[in-house]
Amino acid sequence: MSINVHIVPILSDNYAYILEGADDSVAVVDPGEAAPVIKYLEEHGLTPTLILITHHHWDHVNGVDEILERFPCTLAGADPEGSAPDSPAKKVIKARFDEVLHESCSFSFAGEEVQTLSTPGHTPEHLCYYFKESGFVLCGDVMFSMGCGRILDGSAAELYSSLQKLGALPDETLIYCGHEYTQSNADFCLKIEPDNKALQKRSNEVNALRAKGLSTLPSTLSKEKETNLFLKAKSPQAFKELRTLKDRS
Ligand SMILES: [Zn+2]
Repeated sequence: MSINVHIVPILSDNYAYILEGADDSVAVVDPGEAAPVIKYLEEHGLTPTLILITHHHWDHVNGVDEILERFPCTLAGADPEGSAPDSPAKKVIKARFDEVLHESCSFSFAGEEVQTLSTPGHTPEHLCYYFKESGFVLCGDVMFSMGCGRILDGSAAELYSSLQKLGALPDETLIYCGHEYTQSNADFCLKIEPDNKALQKRSNEVNALRAKGLSTLPSTLSKEKETNLFLKAKSPQAFKELRTLKDRS
């Protein structure tokens, strides 16, 4: 992998990411809080050239202004238009974007092509960023390990097809999500499929990691294909029922 992905825990259970290319290109992804990100950048002598946003929710964008003040650079991300009009984060982030990205806006970072995958459902527009050469995807709040985002401002059918789109990536793809929800997702999935051996194994791994205070990410798509019941759902309707159950759990 030519791009290193650094995980920066922020807020209570979010992750921001710092991408470091071999050519010293540095990108910050979804900085919902500035201080831990700036601390990491300073401690490692990194200067970002790009801030990438998967979607406009406050816990993914709140640190943007402070980081831009400290490190002026390009801000790019998914178009928040079409989401709830009363969302203050939407207005703020839209005004600050240097580039509003869409699915057709593949771009280059650290000499590598980055594919922007339109993945609505959690929000009306949400982008995942797929780094084919380095073999990872940043999937924001669309897919979590053994889970998926809530349907806040989109539809179950949209979120289902967004998950299917991620599921079509190569099995070895590393999955970097926007939250550390893995343990509670595993507990939920085990209630639904208590005899799923892959799920039991992964749940034990996850419990051991969390007991040490470690991140459970990245996951891999092959692990998710075995254990993520939302990704495994056979139809939009089955997916919707599962998501409703999870919302009530
Ligand atoms: Zn969100």
